Amino acid sequence: MPITPAQSRLIEFLVAALASEVSEPERRWQGASDIARQYASDRRQLLLTRDWTADVVLDSAGDTWVIDTETGQAPRTATAAERREALFRALYHYPELLSLLPSRPATAGTCSVCEGTGVPEIRFVKPSFRSLVCQCAGAGWIVQDK
Ligand SMILES: [Zn+2]
Repeated sequence: MPITPAQSRLIEFLVAALASEVSEPERRWQGASDIARQYASDRRQLLLTRDWTADVVLDSAGDTWVIDTETGQAPRTATAAERREALFRALYHYPELLSLLPSRPATAGTCSVCEGTGVPEIRFVKPSFRSLVCQCAGAGWIVQDK
């Protein structure tokens, strides 16, 4: 997805801060701070999401990559759905990335789980589900391209 030069500079700034500032990875990533710092310093990439078998990272060209952390396969370009999910989820760590979020397409449907809020109600009532991510990844809408 094409990004603007200003958005590219923003990503470079965030990467540089993660790579060089002592408290920045901890502030943004808590328990995953070492991994976030490693992507920033070794690959000049911004860690967007961490899951059981893969991480998704963003580079300053605006490309999102899936990094297989289980089998060690070569990084691959994220699909449109993976990119959208990673960007929405990454807002928790980088609210500065708001301008990179995709707009809601006219064909998108409101997410039935969270009813468009982006936050499933089970998070309100079960503390153990506080970090549960909705099927819409926080967008509040769903497109059928997965
Ligand atoms: Zn939802």
